[in-house]
Amino acid sequence: MSDPTSNPTSNPTSDPTSDPTSGSPHPAPARTLYRGGFVYSPVDPFATALLTVDGQIAWIGSDEAAGTHLDGAGEVVELDGALVTPAFVDAHVHLSMTGQALTGVDLSGASSLVDALGLVEAAARQRGGRPLFAHSFDEDAWPERRAPTRSELDRAAYGGVVYAPRVDVHSAVVSSALAAASGARSRAGWQESGLVRGDAHHAVRDAFAAGLSHADRATHRAAALQSAAAAGIGLVHEHGSPQISSEEDLVASVAAGAVGDAPQVFGYWGELVADADAARLLVSRLPIRGLAGDLCVDGSIGSRTACLREPYADVSAGDHRGTAYLSSAEVRDHVVACTQAGTQAGFHVIGDAAADIVVTGLRDATGVLGAPALRAAGHRLEHLEMVDADAIEALAALGVTASVQPAFDAAWGGPMGMYAARLGLGRAVRMNPFATMASMGLPFALGSDSPVTPFDPWAAVSACVNHRTAAQRLSARSAFLAHTRAGWRAAGIDDRGYLAPGQPATLAVWAVGDLVVQAPDRRVQNWSTDPRSGTPGLPDVSPGASRPRSRRTVIRGRTVFEEAGALT
Ligand SMILES: [Zn+2]
Repeated sequence: MSDPTSNPTSNPTSDPTSDPTSGSPHPAPARTLYRGGFVYSPVDPFATALLTVDGQIAWIGSDEAAGTHLDGAGEVVELDGALVTPAFVDAHVHLSMTGQALTGVDLSGASSLVDALGLVEAAARQRGGRPLFAHSFDEDAWPERRAPTRSELDRAAYGGVVYAPRVDVHSAVVSSALAAASGARSRAGWQESGLVRGDAHHAVRDAFAAGLSHADRATHRAAALQSAAAAGIGLVHEHGSPQISSEEDLVASVAAGAVGDAPQVFGYWGELVADADAARLLVSRLPIRGLAGDLCVDGSIGSRTACLREPYADVSAGDHRGTAYLSSAEVRDHVVACTQAGTQAGFHVIGDAAADIVVTGLRDATGVLGAPALRAAGHRLEHLEMVDADAIEALAALGVTASVQPAFDAAWGGPMGMYAARLGLGRAVRMNPFATMASMGLPFALGSDSPVTPFDPWAAVSACVNHRTAAQRLSARSAFLAHTRAGWRAAGIDDRGYLAPGQPATLAVWAVGDLVVQAPDRRVQNWSTDPRSGTPGLPDVSPGASRPRSRRTVIRGRTVFEEAGALT
């Protein structure tokens, strides 16, 4: 399905999609001058202007000097105090599911179970029997404290097909019609209430997906990419796997990002391999940077499927420690195979016992290939939420990158949050240890896991700066780097994700209130005076500050998002 000659893994150190002119129906203006704003660039901390030529950044400097670049500029953008940054990189997304969510019934805002069923009923009436994707319920936020049941969905949707995944998408509730169509009843993980986990959930997801047309899926992907562009994101890492999507969907997602009128897309495929030949076959067939991503060692905390050393705190019966889907031997063999095939390996790993499995598997892989080979391959781990200092040290030594989701801490961390409920406060406060990762040299890139949390990169930066565990807070600068440059590095590309001459013109323009400088003690201070009085910095992301508003997103010179009436 894919053209092997365009395989992006053929040269993993370069940006395979950096040619701004290839195959685009929307040519960029040859020369665009931005002036009168603030340009966040390592080459000139006082820059207020930027020139792009033929899809690349040609010059960065002051407004005074910008005058010499007016000649021949096809477009002059008066920034009027706006901030120009590199476009964000979202290192963990699911485009089709995101688009499905954007066009489906969102239960995340429902105030109660009754309210949620009302939303399902309204949508069922409006859509006249079409299958309903009613997503993101969170029973912990409802007074009823329970998920909907199959019979409740049947009543609300007049007997139609309803697929209602929980907010963490590791479990779901289905209507009777979908239960019957999917054969979920005969699979492991089925409950008569209509709650599905594991195999039963996979059967449901597959059956629901099979009911979508090619046109539906293309619409979903386009909606997701447009939403990412509107959030100032220039590159997403799409994580497909045989369990949650399809090869066809992955190929189409990567292709959609290559056209030029949407964020770029790097593909990852979460399929376990046992030897290098199997890895090479997949790498030759799919447009991927690695056999990594949602290759699940375990599940999620919310669904109590994350694999733990000690039992869940809120399950009184028995000794429930979640589920390990892979062994350390399988991890070892996969890592060895991918390393030998010259592609990234990686896993979805959330619980502490799952992290133990991965660390053991990686260490055993060094016994086969040696640590230098593993370090050179640059493997990656998704989520890595319950990792301790010993594991962080081990992973840093093996050149692994963590792909983390700060919005998870914002949504479910803290003393009253879901993590504390599931695990007890003692374990909850040790989760998502970003500052420990930073201090121990474990590189990490930020992502949303959209549709689990929305595309909102400044919210992710803010979640790092205002981490619910004070000891794990990062500076805005560290968090910003983790959401830009580190996202390229996580894909094995070292020299992208910042604004400098010679770089692709992949940038975002933001209306901001106050810009800030980072004080040495990490407290954020307002900076709203003359740029020359301090180091121009990043927007204020402290609690209560207004979020930067996206005005324009440019990818390789082409404007892929423009706020209505913003700059032109
Ligand atoms: Zn994921």
